[in-house]
Amino acid sequence: MWREISVCGNVYTLRETRSGPIRGQLAQGESSALQDGSLVDLCGATLLWRTAEATRSHSLEERQPWAYLTCGHVHGRHDWGQKPEHCREHEGGPSTGGRRECPLCRSLGPYVPLWLGCEPAFYVDAGAPTHAFVPCGHVCSERTAKYWAETSLPHGTHAFQPICPFCSTPLTGTPGFTRLIFQGPVD
Ligand SMILES: [Zn+2]
Ligand SMILES: [Zn+2]
Repeated sequence: MWREISVCGNVYTLRETRSGPIRGQLAQGESSALQDGSLVDLCGATLLWRTAEATRSHSLEERQPWAYLTCGHVHGRHDWGQKPEHCREHEGGPSTGGRRECPLCRSLGPYVPLWLGCEPAFYVDAGAPTHAFVPCGHVCSERTAKYWAETSLPHGTHAFQPICPFCSTPLTGTPGFTRLIFQGPVD
């Protein structure tokens, strides 16, 4: 159901026609807060509102590559060295802080699923997807990763911090991204 929202955030039923001079009735008790999937029509340009939590919750796949963010080694998903229940509890979240040991180089760090950053407007070049943001695991080109890691955005009332442009997660560590090391098939 479409509603008209005033500049003050009040909710009204629609006008008789969109260009009509008389606004609709005040919709008592309705909130103008956006929910995941809300459509916002701005004079003909329609925007889709997605929350940061929504995009990844149901799309984790069995064959999805995972990577150790400290060293960049990419693996298939595995539960080595960790109880499966514990692992499942922690998968997919950037803020768990769980540290795992990479079986290739033994470095300790977060082990996260990789997600290709899918909004082309955030890319600064057409380079190969070789780097991942830390801690969310969004993958993009090297120049794109550097650009966003060096771009501090306003945070709170007076701070600035770099974020992943694909999911808005604040980047951690320096430089805030890792170079991925893909391995060929073992035979
Ligand atoms: Zn490693
Ligand atoms: Zn991200």
